[in-house]
Amino acid sequence: MSKFWSSRLQRTEPYVPGEQPNDTNVIKLNTNENPYPPSPEVQKAIQQAASEDLRLYPTPTLQELRQTIAEKFQVHQDQVFIGNGSDEVLAFSFMAFFEPGETIRFPDITYSFYPVYAKLFNTDYKVIPVNEDFSLPIESFYDAEGGVIFPNPNAPTGRALSLLEVESIVNGNPNKVVIIDEAYIDFGGQSAVQLVNRYENLLVIQTLSKSRSLAGLRVGFAIGNSQLIEGLNRIKNSFNSYTIDRLAIAGAKAAFEDEAYFEKVRKRIIDTREKTAESLSTLGFDVVESKANFLLVSHPQVDAEQLYTQLKEQNIYVRYFNKPRIQQYVRITIGKPGEMEKLIKETKHLI
Ligand code: PMP
Repeated sequence: MSKFWSSRLQRTEPYVPGEQPNDTNVIKLNTNENPYPPSPEVQKAIQQAASEDLRLYPTPTLQELRQTIAEKFQVHQDQVFIGNGSDEVLAFSFMAFFEPGETIRFPDITYSFYPVYAKLFNTDYKVIPVNEDFSLPIESFYDAEGGVIFPNPNAPTGRALSLLEVESIVNGNPNKVVIIDEAYIDFGGQSAVQLVNRYENLLVIQTLSKSRSLAGLRVGFAIGNSQLIEGLNRIKNSFNSYTIDRLAIAGAKAAFEDEAYFEKVRKRIIDTREKTAESLSTLGFDVVESKANFLLVSHPQVDAEQLYTQLKEQNIYVRYFNKPRIQQYVRITIGKPGEMEKLIKETKHLI
């Protein structure tokens, strides 16, 4: 640490992402990536953009991709903001809508980037303990002084709120922004995008990293009232006016245009999730009900950290969080059926 670091930088403990081993033999079930490649149309579009467009700067307004997203979600393009992964959109949203000194709320078990951003941007926060079954206590999110943010489905639990429950939190904070992080929404949750025209304080953030297999391309987006979107653009244009590059624009557009592929892949993952949940339950695991592409599981006779380590020795990577309340759980990303069978087989030997 240097004495020249600002106090907010000193306070900030950076986010630690899951391991990204280089070994291709690893069964990688630790960072909620999609086990299937992106649509072949994405690869074609990126190749074409690489040979024809890279000479030129991207269009700063990202108009074409915003239009594609707007059509898909039946909103106006002024209601769409695009960033370099939803992590960036989240960061911009903290800067744009949460006032330093006012306390925001998010659940105690949630995406670990939120406290990082809160510290970095001087946002005070209060964590709301989740219920025993990991569901969210809805009413505890009403009347938050500085606003609310939570993922739906939540991570790393996978538990989802219904649209009515989400709406009641939005309603419960009429004068503050409520941000719904829908990174995993396509695996079975109900999206709040359909509410954005009714609530000026609602911002919904999604990503192409999970259901569209594009974690490596880094594209995320927000949908909300056009004034919220204008706020995000103001932040972007204040220091990072191009944001996503021409390859990302081309790939993202192609991904949205191949709905048949998207539907096929997400259904396959949901199906594999349900089968995996069943197999793990049969082995005696407590499996948290999940609407995401991962399962949070624990076993009464198995130490979770040890299970994580032993699976890793077998080249199967899952995620272990050394955090209160989930210390006895591991999070398992849903991979291909064969990968999950291997996981089950190895796990059987370890319990
Ligand atoms: N929100 C949640 C809840 C996540 O789990 C993730 C992925 N780690 C993200 C946002 C960020 O995804 P990306 O930046 O790849 O869009």
